[in-house]
Amino acid sequence: MTALKEGESVRVRFAPSPTGFFHIGSARTVLFNWIFARQRGGSFILRIEDTDSERSKPEYEEDILAGIRWLGLDWDEGPDKSGPFSPYRQSERREFYKKYLEKLLEEKKAYFCFCSKEQLEIDRQNMLAQGIPPKYAGRCRNVPEKESEERRKRGDSSVIRFASPETEIEFNDIVRGKVKFDVSLAGDIIIAKGIDEPLYNFAATVDDEMMNITHVIRGEEHLSNTPKQIILQEALGFRPLKYAHIPLILNPDRTKMSKRYLESSVRDYREQGYLPEAVANFLVLLGWHPKDDREILSLEEILSGFDIKRVQKAGAIFNIEKLNWLNSQVIKNKNVSETLDLLRPFLKEKNISVGDDFVKKVITAEKERLKTLRDFLELAGFFFELPDYEPKLLIWKDNSSSATKTSLRESEKILNVLPEENFIKEKIAAALQQPIEKMGRGAVLWPLRAAVSGKKASPDPFEIIEILGKKETARRLEKAIEKINSVIA
Ligand code: GLU
Repeated sequence: MTALKEGESVRVRFAPSPTGFFHIGSARTVLFNWIFARQRGGSFILRIEDTDSERSKPEYEEDILAGIRWLGLDWDEGPDKSGPFSPYRQSERREFYKKYLEKLLEEKKAYFCFCSKEQLEIDRQNMLAQGIPPKYAGRCRNVPEKESEERRKRGDSSVIRFASPETEIEFNDIVRGKVKFDVSLAGDIIIAKGIDEPLYNFAATVDDEMMNITHVIRGEEHLSNTPKQIILQEALGFRPLKYAHIPLILNPDRTKMSKRYLESSVRDYREQGYLPEAVANFLVLLGWHPKDDREILSLEEILSGFDIKRVQKAGAIFNIEKLNWLNSQVIKNKNVSETLDLLRPFLKEKNISVGDDFVKKVITAEKERLKTLRDFLELAGFFFELPDYEPKLLIWKDNSSSATKTSLRESEKILNVLPEENFIKEKIAAALQQPIEKMGRGAVLWPLRAAVSGKKASPDPFEIIEILGKKETARRLEKAIEKINSVIA
């Protein structure tokens, strides 16, 4: 499949345009490239495609680099490292593109086009009216050299078009198999806005050659760019490359993944409290699965099991439930100290500053229920600050307010005399056995749980009380009694 020449090693690249935050779909592309390189002892190159100076921003580039690192992945050559083919930012490589543009112009394989937008639109409408698929009509292909030069000197605006051959291009995609395109349908594509302003297809083709790239692994949305890049390679006398176009990521309703439905940048997921191991695990399953259908995979297991030839052609559905489940599994497998460290930024965000020992107890109580780290704030927030709640929350089924008060008073009395050192859940449960027998489990434990948590659902009250300790439990019970009093009065 790789058909490399002897001694040649695999070189793949991830080539993002830094025009937005690092997208979750791009993260999958990085992962597939990284795995492919690491499995073969090859190199993974990070190339920043920032020729669009208006839309490219340094903060997006930083976000991309940070996102890749967060996922636990690395690159061998890139904008922050020197390498044999530096620089790795296209905005710093304009001289190379210029050289190759000049070569194409000289060889008459490219030409300046002066057609106005209005003219192009008229041509388009005419072709549509004749039932022909619209493409550039080729009007400027034969503008004499001298005239072209004069017009440019005069300041007429122009672009550079590639004189595309009327041909069919066929290539063997590692994922999609044989792919055929009639390039004449695309017409003479624009490859640069000017001699110093190359566009994506051209700059990428030059760089893939100059950086000795062997395999291009990218999203299926780029499939139609491949024949354009192949004809450019052929015109420039470059080496052919191998391609793998990985399937689109789809919303559950099978439409193309969009921000409207799903969080889309890696930083969104990080901020929601997803863990990199879970995200990487989830992403690799978007288009591939191991032979034995295991779902929980470490990066090492992914590295040993992944096979690009088994990547599916069909779109991969982004199932957030699956990500949540994987994330909950990763959290479950962390020990309490690791979880505490992961939670610190979330606690800080909410200005929760209590001792580590206390937080660790809360983590132990809640860990099993967390889908994301952020869930901790929602599920366990009451340990740090009692939320306000309606007095009726304290009432068990159709019990009366005064029976609720009696029950709370009873629990309060028992817990008040229970020595501090006996505030452990088994002893608390044993101490409360007597009123439970008298009034019933629900009638005692429901108001107690509501009083100490202020919530409808929570871990069992004995565990909460143990964590809160004697003083805080007494304070919360007092508050509950005040609340229930207010409805009795
Ligand atoms: N700069 C392109 C993008 O961000 C790269 C596509 C490619 O991998 O060739 O989509």
